[in-house]
Amino acid sequence: MKIAVVGAGIAGIATAFELMEAGNEVCIYEQHRTAGEEASFAPAGLMWPCAINPWGATAFQQALRLGLHRPAFAELDTHGSVLSASRRWARKYHAIAKKHNDVESIGALQELELLSMQRLQHAQELFDIDAQFNAGLLLPLRKEPNAAALYELTRRLSAAHVDYKQCTEAEARALEPGLATEIRMAGALHLPQAWAGNGRLFSQGLLQALQGHGLQLLTQHAVTRIQPQNQGVRLVTSAGERDHDAVVLCAGEHTTALLQAVGIRLPAAPIHGYSVSIQIAEQSLAPRGSIIDLENSMVLTRQGTRLRISGGAELGWQDSPERTEEARHQLISVLLEWFPGSIQRSQSVLQTWRGVRTAVPDGLPVLGATGAPGVWINAAHGGYGWGLSIGCAHHVRQLLMGQTSTVDAAAFALGRFD
Ligand SMILES: Cc1cc2nc3c(=O)[nH]c(=O)nc-3n(C[C@H](O)[C@H](O)[C@H](O)COP(=O)(O)OP(=O)(O)OC[C@H]3O[C@@H](n4cnc5c(N)ncnc54)[C@H](O)[C@@H]3O)c2cc1C
Repeated sequence: MKIAVVGAGIAGIATAFELMEAGNEVCIYEQHRTAGEEASFAPAGLMWPCAINPWGATAFQQALRLGLHRPAFAELDTHGSVLSASRRWARKYHAIAKKHNDVESIGALQELELLSMQRLQHAQELFDIDAQFNAGLLLPLRKEPNAAALYELTRRLSAAHVDYKQCTEAEARALEPGLATEIRMAGALHLPQAWAGNGRLFSQGLLQALQGHGLQLLTQHAVTRIQPQNQGVRLVTSAGERDHDAVVLCAGEHTTALLQAVGIRLPAAPIHGYSVSIQIAEQSLAPRGSIIDLENSMVLTRQGTRLRISGGAELGWQDSPERTEEARHQLISVLLEWFPGSIQRSQSVLQTWRGVRTAVPDGLPVLGATGAPGVWINAAHGGYGWGLSIGCAHHVRQLLMGQTSTVDAAAFALGRFD
């Protein structure tokens, strides 16, 4: 089949990989001059396990609120006075977080993340992309969480079959010798098999490899309309019209508008967050693996010789230099609090980024058929888009090729909102 993919972020590139491997001819349409300019630009980089991602499935955040003080930056920050749609979305999000039985979501996510890890390994066997992969994750507990919060955390990890160890402060310091001596800890959780990596490097490497195998990438081609035909679909773009047998929408936050134009509603909202990347000044004092600051919902990862700290969740706020500066300040302060010797205070930040997590209220991706003939979706990955990228793409490939997926298709189908 001749298949179009709209969007050259991590989801679109992974989808192209999977569809090409299944023998299809694939063309990616990208509105920008280069790939990976939007949500896939500088995410934190956590890949596995999803159950621990602070901005993942909503119920996790609710569980953490049981016992840990969380300042404003760690909450969903809704600017609802202007946008009533944001208010409605946030109400749904909070309602689901309150009553959601997350065991089902964890089970479905777990299938998807297992598939992602298998497919990533397969892609690595083929292309051996250096994406600064890094193992190990520590969750330091600054104060004794109440029993309910700790129970929630460990229950989620057990439900997701994630190996973890409860550590003393001394054990946590042995794992991460750069941890500030001033900080007292009630202990920590250590996940030795957790993974992080640089999604942008991976997707660039994958894109290059696929171009060598016949992938067509049309940059500066904004898709303005999708028209299902009797057979196949027509894409109307800023540079003319083209017909394909099918199209997969991997357009990140713009997927909603593209679907709306064919009469289909995707109840997704753009939740903005920030990351700061900064050069490591002293290797021995920098984190060895990833760190999650549970109180602030911030994630700290290593990206080669750089550190990246990421956090914040805004809904309805416009991009502004003041808010970006405030976020930059908060992120660097937290980094310096945990690992004061790892960077130089005076050192200039290499990159401050504001990006979007496109999410539906239940926090799970939306994958599969859309209801419009020939139009498929791989979007709304929330805080998991890099970690789950190849698994989501493989699942969509199986559905599109008429095969049975190993993943619970109903859990991720657009139809779950009917
Ligand atoms: C602060 C932050 C931290 C994060 N941390 C993590 C993490 O630790 N782990 C994790 O797994 N995920 C994380 N994420 C989420 C992850 O970054 C996203 O889920 C992922 O990058 C989404 O990829 P995508 O390809 O779907 O979207 P995008 O990267 O946004 O790609 C969509 C592409 O489609 C193109 N496009 C859109 N409309 C059109 C059109 N009409 N025509 C042509 N092209 C179009 C866009 O230009 C863009 O290139 C984080 C996100 C943020 C904001």
